[in-house]
Amino acid sequence: MRRFIAGMMLLSSTMGCAVPRAAGAPLAPVERAWEVPTLELYSDWWRKTEACSGRKADMSEVTFYAVDAPNGAIGLNGTVAHGWWVRQGNRIYLPANALGEEWLVRHEMLHALLQRGSHPTRQFVDACHLASVDVWRDSTMRVDPTNPQGR
Ligand SMILES: [Zn+2]
Repeated sequence: MRRFIAGMMLLSSTMGCAVPRAAGAPLAPVERAWEVPTLELYSDWWRKTEACSGRKADMSEVTFYAVDAPNGAIGLNGTVAHGWWVRQGNRIYLPANALGEEWLVRHEMLHALLQRGSHPTRQFVDACHLASVDVWRDSTMRVDPTNPQGR
């Protein structure tokens, strides 16, 4: 039962994630996706994420895509997450109905700024509070309970 609950928690709070390597597998969601123009809001969020992470990059190098994913889950290479950053092409995929979800958009921005697919606690939890929705809501958290190793 404990394992079942843990699994459910993991599933329900599955974070935005990243595909760090090109492994020959498809590198785009199978769902319908379209490029979204970056709004002023995203420029603000990008700057905030630059500030908390201490990393700087040109947001115009990132392409944002909306994905037709009404349940908020985007499948990629057999894994489901709320959002994805794909190193190849520096692409970010977000559910169309979550384009205004700050923690999720900025979580993927942080991957793009760091150019890495893992979730170092220093940046994702301590500095930016973007590791998960739980960490976003409770900035006193020092570790992401669903991903304590920052993988
Ligand atoms: Zn992630």
